[in-house]
Amino acid sequence: SYSFLDTDIEKPRITFKDVGGMEKVKEEIALKVIYPLKNPDIYKAYGKKAGGGILMYGPPGCGKTHLARATAGEIDATFISVGINDVLDMWIGNSEKNLHEIFQQARIGRPCVLFFDEVDALGASRSDMRRSEGRFLINQFLNELDGVEHSNEGVLILAATNSPWYLDAAFRRPGRFDRLIFVQPPDKTARISILQLLLQNTPTEKVDIESIARLTEEFSGADLKAVVDMAIESKITESLKAGKTLPLTTTDLKNACSKQVATTLEW
Ligand code: ATP
Repeated sequence: SYSFLDTDIEKPRITFKDVGGMEKVKEEIALKVIYPLKNPDIYKAYGKKAGGGILMYGPPGCGKTHLARATAGEIDATFISVGINDVLDMWIGNSEKNLHEIFQQARIGRPCVLFFDEVDALGASRSDMRRSEGRFLINQFLNELDGVEHSNEGVLILAATNSPWYLDAAFRRPGRFDRLIFVQPPDKTARISILQLLLQNTPTEKVDIESIARLTEEFSGADLKAVVDMAIESKITESLKAGKTLPLTTTDLKNACSKQVATTLEW
């Protein structure tokens, strides 16, 4: 991966099988962007053009970024994740220029998944708080999405927000972010698969994943990751004291659960 502006271009190796749960969201992304890219002839025969972006919304930490990265891995595409700080610049005109360069980079790197995190901050009056010309940036963004100057063929545009209501309505028009997907906190089945994924390379001993999933109602994927990380950390400390690798147990995970709060409840 190499760096451009502050944006990293990467070639993700994870795919949908590395994303626990989110079955409906995966299916939507497959229908909207993956199948059209893999079977352009079928879509063309029906006069359908691939395109348009998907806006994911929901509480933080529930896998939006993770899924966007895995989408790129699914189609062997490059991946660019854009945060507000990659775009916003205090100098007049520079934010628009940054945004244009990011889109150009995605076009050069196609097939590419271009992912905008916290997109509401770029496409809302909220960006006016940091600069007085917010409208120029919104217009630039809309032009880039529409591919007015340069085609976006082969560029899949995904975006995430915790607050979709802040996004300017113009972004929701056809061909833009015309599909809105709610990414909810993982249910018990999803938590089981996320925990299994998080523990797949960890030495464990008969871990009762089911009971951990029951204990972690309202936990996001990121919360579950924090739990597993905490449990592993303390097990490593214990192993160092014992002078040998001790396997992670259900009790270790339960202890870690009691130290973690469910962040989705704050949404
Ligand atoms: P935000 O809305 O704050 O950007 P997010 O919804 O994009 O959060 P991620 O950054 O994708 O959440 O999740 C944080 C980490 O939690 C991921 O890097 C991944 O390790 C883990 N994780 C989250 N959801 C899942 C999931 N469904 N399957 C596997 N791992 C997950």
